Amino acid sequence: MPSTLTIPDLAGKAVLITGASSGIGAALARAFAAQDASVGLHYHSGVEAAQAIAGEIEEAGGRVALVQANAAKSEEMAAAVDSVAQTFGRLDGLINNAGSMIARVLYEEMTDAHYDRVMDVNARSVVAASRAAVTHLKRDGGFIINTTSVAARSGGTAGSGIYGSSKAFVAAVTKGMALEFGKYNIRVNAVAPGLITTPFQDRFALAGQLEQVAASVPLRRTGTPEDCVGAYLFLASAMLSGYITGQTVDVNGGQLMP
Ligand code: NAD
Repeated sequence: MPSTLTIPDLAGKAVLITGASSGIGAALARAFAAQDASVGLHYHSGVEAAQAIAGEIEEAGGRVALVQANAAKSEEMAAAVDSVAQTFGRLDGLINNAGSMIARVLYEEMTDAHYDRVMDVNARSVVAASRAAVTHLKRDGGFIINTTSVAARSGGTAGSGIYGSSKAFVAAVTKGMALEFGKYNIRVNAVAPGLITTPFQDRFALAGQLEQVAASVPLRRTGTPEDCVGAYLFLASAMLSGYITGQTVDVNGGQLMP
């Protein structure tokens, strides 16, 4: 597939991207396909969007396998991982991107049910998918890239605290798995997006938040899904980042400098 930037060691790799029917995940599916990787395109309810992206990739000569699963259910995610590995005959990388704020709820008003929903989709999903993926990844080594958030480092904004905390959990999982899986030559890293304009923000942004962030971050704008792609490609490529594991790359226009 044509691409202006070619990263040779990504060609032929089989990569599962969760939550790839929209936003950052959709941009990643297109970008990895453009590197001639085989793309496992996971989706939940967005079947039409997922099929449209898959069609686009196939039309351009790429390889794609669609797989449906609720990220909050461990057994569904494990089955999704195994299905993609079986379709392509291998698995070289897992990108844990599916996630949601579910709703803005203040800590004072939070129910256990809300806590469970947030933690299941953002935290449990990463543990379950990664656990299932390791069996396949350890054959030849590979990578896991998790998606955390600026909110993991800042504590979040009004009502997004538990979401930010679930992403902080993912940041800690990233380090722990990097420690455990290094012996298999599996690198585990994370990308922490700042404010990226996607359906996520259409749904969850506070009134005026996009404008406020755009006016105040050093780069004076909000981010796009395409702004995030380079960090994932870099962390996927052993040629570019083969001695990097357990790290988080912040893609936030300078909003927070940890
Ligand atoms: P998005 O809403 O477009 O994408 C989220 C994806 O997760 C969707 O494809 C959705 O189907 C999937 N998903 C949600 N719940 C699911 C479930 N129960 N089962 C399976 N899939 C599910 O938003 P996005 O901004 O592209 O988000 C991608 C990731 O980036 C998420 O983990 C999000 O938390 C994170 N993030 C986004 C921003 C931002 O500003 N947009 C900032 C920091 C982190």
